Amino acid sequence: MMVVMTPEATQAEIDAVVAKLEARGVHAKVMPGELTTAIGAIGDPEGVRELGLEGLSGVDQVIPISRPYKLASSELSHHEPTEFDVDGRRVGGRDTFCLIAGPCTVETPEQTRTVARTVAAAGASMLRGGAFKPRTSPFSFQGLGYEGLEILAEVRAETGLPLVSELTSAQHADRLAEVVDVVQVGARNMQNYGLLEVVGKLGKPVLLKRGLSSTLDELLMAADYVLKEGNEHVALCERGIRTFETATRFTLDLGAVPWLKLHTHLPVIVDPSHASGDRRLVGPLSRAAAAAGADGIIVEVHDDPEAALCDGPHQIYAKDFAAFAAEVAAHAQLLGKRLA
Ligand code: PEP
Ligand code: MN
Repeated sequence: MMVVMTPEATQAEIDAVVAKLEARGVHAKVMPGELTTAIGAIGDPEGVRELGLEGLSGVDQVIPISRPYKLASSELSHHEPTEFDVDGRRVGGRDTFCLIAGPCTVETPEQTRTVARTVAAAGASMLRGGAFKPRTSPFSFQGLGYEGLEILAEVRAETGLPLVSELTSAQHADRLAEVVDVVQVGARNMQNYGLLEVVGKLGKPVLLKRGLSSTLDELLMAADYVLKEGNEHVALCERGIRTFETATRFTLDLGAVPWLKLHTHLPVIVDPSHASGDRRLVGPLSRAAAAAGADGIIVEVHDDPEAALCDGPHQIYAKDFAAFAAEVAAHAQLLGKRLA
């Protein structure tokens, strides 16, 4: 933290701040400037915050200078970029690009199987599919629940594709974790801190989506909730945020990709489907995500999107998926990455 004094602050007021910091065990470094004096407080930022230095006379501002996220930060002890395997499929590898594809929601065994076979044949490394859907309205289709998990398990056995599926409530955690390979935390639950702790304890890789109106700092602090439970296999997902723009369903924040690459060691996946809400945009945005350095994308695919129970307008036609995947792979290759 940095304590900035007012231009009129006296030496006695500066000494009082230093004394208060040192009494708390925080190292204080006084930096006199031309107009004002700043005092660097080197130590536990929470402890410094609790001192309430803003209330002392002669103090103008107390400014945090270290990052609010700890475990997710690339600044801290944590070393090399995080990479991990999901049943042999690399996530976050320097030279691998992870293509996750599948329907928005599991509807029938046939639909799930057809899409899974299509995406597997085109090089997808994992199958996505929701059994529990976080719908904005309680009257919308909520997913097949446990029946959906059973369908996913059958399709996994048939195709060998590892599964990514969303957990919406702690009460389903154990059964979901028995079936899926990667537990997704959806945008609406990014700030459900109790759920994040439950997910952190499951011992499964986690795909953590950015909240609809969450900053990147908040995303990384949410990741800290999972990481602090000892689960280091966390991938982040940029899925579009709310802005003043209404032409697209959300605004895909592609700047988040290189920013996250600078500030965290965790892999970054992009979801162009929910971001755009329009399948015609999914190809260009997926290619842009790959070229911007994302570690992978997660896209929705359906054999008959017009009849889909959820998110029909942005699900790619299964028949178009192979061409789509080839173009994305070509863009990932610009950065030396091949499909995982
Ligand atoms: C999903 O991936 O199925 C989903 C609901 O996405 P989001 O949480 O990003 O809206
Ligand atoms: Mn969807």
